[in-house]
Amino acid sequence: MSDIEIAQANEANEMLPITAVAKTVGLQADDLELYGQAKAKLSYPTLQRLADQPLGKLVLVTSINPTPAGEGKSTVTIGLGDALNLRRQKAVIALREPSLGPVMGMKGGATGGGYSQVVPMEDINLHFTGDMHALTTAVDTLAALIDNHLHQGNALNLDPRRILWHRVLDINDRALRHTVIGLGGPTSGVPRENQFDITVASELMAVLCLAENMHDLKARIGRIVIGFTYDRQPVTVSQLGVTGAIAVLLKDALKPNLVQTLAHTPTLIHGGPFANIAHGCNSVLATKTALQLGDIALTEAGFGADLGAEKFMDIKAPVLGKTPDAVVIVATVRALKYNGGQALKDLTTENRDALAQGFANLAKHVANMQQYGRPVLVAINRFTSDTDAEIADLVAACAQLGVQAIPADVWGQGGQGALALADALITALATTSRFVPLYDPKAPVKAKITTIVQKIYGGKDVVYDHQAELALKTIAANGWEDLPICMAKTQYSLSDDPKALGAPTGFTMHVRDVIPKLGAGFLVVMTGSVLTMPGLPKTPAAMNMDVSDDGVISGLF
Ligand code: ADP
Repeated sequence: MSDIEIAQANEANEMLPITAVAKTVGLQADDLELYGQAKAKLSYPTLQRLADQPLGKLVLVTSINPTPAGEGKSTVTIGLGDALNLRRQKAVIALREPSLGPVMGMKGGATGGGYSQVVPMEDINLHFTGDMHALTTAVDTLAALIDNHLHQGNALNLDPRRILWHRVLDINDRALRHTVIGLGGPTSGVPRENQFDITVASELMAVLCLAENMHDLKARIGRIVIGFTYDRQPVTVSQLGVTGAIAVLLKDALKPNLVQTLAHTPTLIHGGPFANIAHGCNSVLATKTALQLGDIALTEAGFGADLGAEKFMDIKAPVLGKTPDAVVIVATVRALKYNGGQALKDLTTENRDALAQGFANLAKHVANMQQYGRPVLVAINRFTSDTDAEIADLVAACAQLGVQAIPADVWGQGGQGALALADALITALATTSRFVPLYDPKAPVKAKITTIVQKIYGGKDVVYDHQAELALKTIAANGWEDLPICMAKTQYSLSDDPKALGAPTGFTMHVRDVIPKLGAGFLVVMTGSVLTMPGLPKTPAAMNMDVSDDGVISGLF
């Protein structure tokens, strides 16, 4: 059965009203704002009331570098949450909201797979509670207000060639990467070059995900630098006078969404920045709420540990005020064989040599996460094609590194397939450990970048394009150097070359630009040829989708 068929079979028969799921973590009906029977947002008074609750333990789920073979971070996070609840631990999951870009583009959503899924998966992967649409509208409203300001006399002296704020769509649309707007004469605005990004790459998505409450959201929106004047002075949203209007558009989007797994584990799905071009973590509010409602909060950071997990530790954790108490790294035999040179079409055939070769990628991520001082476990996400010999090899190779690797069949068995992993995690959470930050945010910008490149990616040094050097001068002149770094890098390799698989060393990273994001509170470092507006593949996932006359969706995943 496909993911959607498994989900639909369950949704029809067994999905609980969301009020009943909420009750299991002490929430009453009036804590919720219902979006139908199965989805709800938590109200502002509820979020304020929860602020006094003690925090549970935090578990960060991350993975090796993604490959077309699939790793299954969300699937393992969901199955592990269900397994913890089977072990009578009060576990709450916090995940990112899917973007329609990948839903329509590459096969795969953000609600897990097999018997470890969050439901209703069609709603969550399509329009959900409208957060993405609200964000898209808010970003584009700000863009329209900026262009209107230029048109109406430009009192702020904004240089139309130095506007940083881009329009967005939550669709992979390569044709909109570079556009010219304002054509059509004096009544149609000021002509200028314009760029579209995908919504999940926008600074406003990061702002929503890092905001602690409405007050903080407004402060962050006000600080966003929209561009520079002709004499190179930064101009903010607050100077434009529209902070309130943008916050109004996000009033509901700021509230975390509550749904359930197939086994009824409460799951907060909220905010969804990509981890390659943004910071890759669900909202601080959702993770904080999961920590307040559960004894154990499980959360996930996007792509490999070099991107999502590093940004979780160095960007999100300081805002959250809590670092992970344990880290789970998801690996698959298939993806490690792919890293070891086995062709995609042959991954179902046993190949212990390729597995041994590709293990270097997992070993590097284990070492990287151990640098942060917290206990690290490896979850082996079992596929039906894995052989017992391959699984045994992987467990033994991890043991040699001093890290425990536990096979889990969450896809085939749900929480029942992850009981051993849950037990190992409970033991790990009972140990005492001390978090060690990777870098001091007050260090010089280039030193912070070098630290990430050398200590996480395994590279040798960094070269900066002319544009990046100019941007660094602007950052220094404005006193923005103390912000943490958000690397924009390919997810496929530890380096900036997507084809360098395994664990490359001795390479040079190329920095094209450094973009200040004062609202989010980080500096985005653009490397390699990473794009902020993806394109669709030759055969998009959209080709498989349909809806029946009575409204049942098929072919989503
Ligand atoms: P990630 O979070 O790492 O992007 P997901 O958990 O979303 O990965 O999984 C990606 C896809 O792979 C999903 O369609 C899921 O059904 C599938 N998948 C994950 N784990 C397994 C498994 N063990 N066996 C078969 N398919 C799996």
